[in-house]
Amino acid sequence: MYKATHQQTKAYNNQLVLKTIFDSGPLSRADVARATHLTRVTVSEIVAELLETGLIAEVGHGPSTGGKTPILLAVVGDARHLISLDLGADTFRGSIVDLRGHIHHTLSLPFQGSDGDQALELVYELVDALLAALPAGTQRPVLGIGIGAPGLIDTDNGIILQAVHLNWRDLPLGELLHQRYQLPVHLANDCQAAALAEYLFGEGQPGANLVVIKIGHGIGSGIIINGQLYQGDSYSAGEIGHIQAVEAGEPCRCGRSGCLETVASCDALVSHAQNVAIHLREAYLGSMLSCLAANPQAPTFENLVQAFQSGDELACQVALEAARHLGTAIARLVGVLNIHQIILTGNITAFGPRWLETVRWAVSQRLMPGAGYKLRLTFGSLGEEVVILGASALLLTRELGLNPTRFPG
Ligand SMILES: [Zn+2]
Repeated sequence: MYKATHQQTKAYNNQLVLKTIFDSGPLSRADVARATHLTRVTVSEIVAELLETGLIAEVGHGPSTGGKTPILLAVVGDARHLISLDLGADTFRGSIVDLRGHIHHTLSLPFQGSDGDQALELVYELVDALLAALPAGTQRPVLGIGIGAPGLIDTDNGIILQAVHLNWRDLPLGELLHQRYQLPVHLANDCQAAALAEYLFGEGQPGANLVVIKIGHGIGSGIIINGQLYQGDSYSAGEIGHIQAVEAGEPCRCGRSGCLETVASCDALVSHAQNVAIHLREAYLGSMLSCLAANPQAPTFENLVQAFQSGDELACQVALEAARHLGTAIARLVGVLNIHQIILTGNITAFGPRWLETVRWAVSQRLMPGAGYKLRLTFGSLGEEVVILGASALLLTRELGLNPTRFPG
């Protein structure tokens, strides 16, 4: 009993020392002792162990405070490699990432169809290729595999409970990858991973509340409360894509109809634009969209964005209607959670600031007046790497207890 407790304390202290050096380094041993309230002897012992693992290194001398100059310690950014995956709807991407969240190498494999076995084979192919791409003769071990995937995910046990587009149900992906590669594996829903990434590497303030809404093929969000990912009672907190937005609306892939995804996701906008352009061609003869719709392949989402940017009436109508639906959904979230910082990420951000202004306006029209909301609704800063970085953040947090707060300059 005593031994277990002692080991737990030791593991906790080791993580505390590493996290302190990671967040605030370079630091001397005395600085670490002051910051952690551990004794100097304990800190020296832990530092000796960490030096041996290669996770930290002595990086020079600090200014003298009377005696001899203290030796400074810092985390070695590339002491470990992370394999981070983003299993998107039509592309599986994977990167080799370092401890500081710097991406060193990325591979993309297209995924078409919905064959679950093929999807799993593609994950193996991607991890095999990334491991093969590690620098030859590297002395730097792989910390583990982090994954962001769409769907409902049991983060504690690494099980994909349901991922409709990959046709995965109760798939123990964490265990399968662990057996195959003998590495620690952590996975989370892609929107929840995106929230972790924006919080840890993007605009989030330490200890803050934050909602990150990811809009691409689908819509979902991740919620950070007091600096921690909030997953709810069954891991599905933030699944706003399937809250009903319109009565008797279009059928949704979830089996119901009129969900937010059917009116405000990028896919929904494209099909909406195609329908409107075809059916209203008479009324919008000069519309850029109706011209594009003459081509059976068009308009694509890029076409729609382009038409919106040039002020095409039909495109504006389609994009701004989606902005209003989204604003309504965000107002509901803010009304329930009272969280002020909302970040939008994913392909939808291509519409730019004018479109975002309409979302903001729609939110403001639906919030309770006088409730003191100081809403900060912005686009995310991490672009298309957001899920890869989120998978990395998950791995760093779970394996090393690190909570990196920023990309260091
Ligand atoms: Zn739905």
